[in-house]
Amino acid sequence: MAFEGLSNRLQSVFSKLRTKGKLTEEDVTAALREVRLALLEADVNFKVVKEFVAKVKERAIGQEVMKSFTPGMVVIDIVNKELTALMGGTNSKLARSNKPPTVIMMVGLQGAGKTTSSGKLSKLLTKEGRRPLLVACDIYRPAAIKQLQVLGEQLKVPVFAMGDQVSPVEIAKAGLKHAEDHGHDYVIIDTAGRLHIDETLMQELRDIHAAIEPDEVLLVVDSMTGQDAVNVAENFHQQLSLTGVVLTKLDGDTRGGAALSVKAVTGCPIKFAAMGEKLDALEPFHPERMASRILG
Ligand code: GDP
Repeated sequence: MAFEGLSNRLQSVFSKLRTKGKLTEEDVTAALREVRLALLEADVNFKVVKEFVAKVKERAIGQEVMKSFTPGMVVIDIVNKELTALMGGTNSKLARSNKPPTVIMMVGLQGAGKTTSSGKLSKLLTKEGRRPLLVACDIYRPAAIKQLQVLGEQLKVPVFAMGDQVSPVEIAKAGLKHAEDHGHDYVIIDTAGRLHIDETLMQELRDIHAAIEPDEVLLVVDSMTGQDAVNVAENFHQQLSLTGVVLTKLDGDTRGGAALSVKAVTGCPIKFAAMGEKLDALEPFHPERMASRILG
């Protein structure tokens, strides 16, 4: 299960705190040292851990906590609140343009779950009574267009494609026009990914961005890749001004580092979490629920 190691470690630190009556400053410092190690082991960014522990410590060593009858519980509550804040505080909603259609550009490395997440997102929108259009701009990966078409058929969401001989910029523009002409209120553009970030990929994404001026640029990142996911997010953000992140594969045994670092490092909120291969396994990301899940 995701976050298992981190969850277990934090719970054991907290069970010791909970049973203590009075807490000394040394008790808190010792507990936070363990929290720090647990976070580092979960692959949370080093700087993020440092700042997090400093913040918790500052609040936990205050007079109020020490005077409380249940100081352990108060410290746990502080960790919970800071963990929630770290992941963005509250759920960050998907944009909705005043002038429909709302255009969502999905970007990310190959294999992160971009195409699947595009399909899942269209399903979420359909459930809310929206009329999304999926646009197939990944002309390089063999079968990417077909994959999106199959998803569209399963979900009963139309897919706009022009084959793999037309440039992605042209496909994106034509897809947007098609959406306007056919009364779609959301357009989800599935772009190409590469195995690594490279200048050709970025230039193409910048060109699509300039041509369609999306309301959302969502980076799809694989949470299993930990620190790498955060580096990828930083890089994409510098080049494309992301508006949000979709964190995938949270159903796997991810250590949690990406979920806990990506917002703090890039400033981009995690908007959705994907927790499985099934088409309904995408949910709006709720930092407070994720914190509770980690703390058990
Ligand atoms: P793309 O190259 O970024 O478009 O990636 P795909 O959408 O094709 O996904 C790559 C693989 O990851 C596929 O086998 C998906 O079924 C799988 N996948 C995507 N999201 C999730 C997820 O949240 N959980 C799990 N377990 N698998 C996922």
